[in-house]
Amino acid sequence: MDPSIAAPEFRRSLVARYDLAGPRYTSYPTANHFHPSFGAGDYRCAVAQSNAEPIPRELSLYVHVPFCASPCFYCGCTRLITRSRGQAEAYLQRLETEIALQGSLYARDRLARQVHFGGGTPTFLSIDEIARAMAALGRAFRLDASATREFAIEIDPRTVDPAALPALAELGFNRASFGIQDFDPAVQAAVNRIQPFELTRDVMAAARAAGFGSLNVDLIYGLPRQSPDGFAATLDRVLELAPDRIAAYGYAHLPALFRAQRRIDAAELPDAATRLGLLELTVRRLVDAGYVYIGMDHFARPDDGLARALVEGRLRRNFQGYTAHGDVDIVGMGLSAISAVGDAYAQNAKTLGDCYGAIDSGRLPVARGIWLDADDVRRRALIERLLCQGRIDFAAFDAEFDTFFVRDFAVELAALAPLAADGLVEIDRRGISITPVGRLLMRVPAMAFDARLRAARAAAARADDPAAATPRFSKVV
Ligand code: SF4
Repeated sequence: MDPSIAAPEFRRSLVARYDLAGPRYTSYPTANHFHPSFGAGDYRCAVAQSNAEPIPRELSLYVHVPFCASPCFYCGCTRLITRSRGQAEAYLQRLETEIALQGSLYARDRLARQVHFGGGTPTFLSIDEIARAMAALGRAFRLDASATREFAIEIDPRTVDPAALPALAELGFNRASFGIQDFDPAVQAAVNRIQPFELTRDVMAAARAAGFGSLNVDLIYGLPRQSPDGFAATLDRVLELAPDRIAAYGYAHLPALFRAQRRIDAAELPDAATRLGLLELTVRRLVDAGYVYIGMDHFARPDDGLARALVEGRLRRNFQGYTAHGDVDIVGMGLSAISAVGDAYAQNAKTLGDCYGAIDSGRLPVARGIWLDADDVRRRALIERLLCQGRIDFAAFDAEFDTFFVRDFAVELAALAPLAADGLVEIDRRGISITPVGRLLMRVPAMAFDARLRAARAAAARADDPAAATPRFSKVV
């Protein structure tokens, strides 16, 4: 088997040594490089350019619903804690207007094969409210009505009556993602997310019965009070649920950035060795159970579209993580949502006041973004190839991007040499491959191609402030 798609090999000493802070590369440049001089006019220009391409890309529509009824203490998402139903109505009215504004920019024949409702908690909205948002999307865009559509919604089992699942399926949703994190009651109490196993099981069963074809669950290792025994029991229960995809993220404790995390008792967090053990346990348990390691925290059953895309070299990466349909323009709508259109990224305002103010004046709430230059476009492709295909083929890359790889990326190849010596990557005259040992650490070789991170590190070193180079990034493990 190609080593870059083989099961990852956990080598504890290397994983510990390379556990550095770094981006997750759901975009390149990463969002910390977006700037406020990029506005709605730039965004409209990017859409016009993408409409004018000989074969315009399909669309992926992202709708952000920021509300949650209570705060999970580990959370780093853009969300607003409220129990006020009135907030949902006010938000929905603006969302309908924004959807219409966005739809008016895109050529009507561009198919929206993907829809994703994320949050926050999309199921904070009632079924009628979600139906209104879907109807607005249907008026503004050409939604795929075929069986190949991928209409996904993040479901908080604590907020959904299993009886509501058929109604969501009738609205077109055929994929669902369920936050679990950990089933251990002691951990759930420590993170303020009480969610019994039976509740999750019943909602997932209702989703299957309603015809949802793909179910995803999210887990987090590194939470307070987690132990190997407790997390092993959680993994066993997750395997009972037989999800199609599993994402297992490492908890990033950044209380200076995320206010809710200040309510976590740092003394209850697992130490570095335990955290490594939790990761090792997760990888071994899921791989032994037959799941394919997709890359960077993601696992899928072998018959799932992500696993097939990995094997067939079609895997892509974007703001929603890994995807089998990556050659799309992403249209982000709602608070803080990010659009990725051609060679531009645009992000909406992060406060309701700014968002509502723009929309009520008939303007898109774009607050910042970036145009990629030619170097960014090349590096975005290089980083995506490493994270998705585990390989960069020099000749193929040179042919596509008009480069002379070993000359143009000599600095990067030199930076990779120690990683090759440690066995994370293999470099020969034909290309770079991530080894099974390197698969759990693929962010590290990807960082070698991040010129903006390198510049930030150099500036931070000059200022004698190393933390300034990676201020918002989680550790690799
Ligand atoms: S983890 Fe999800 S449900 Fe919990 S506060 Fe964050 S966005 Fe809301």
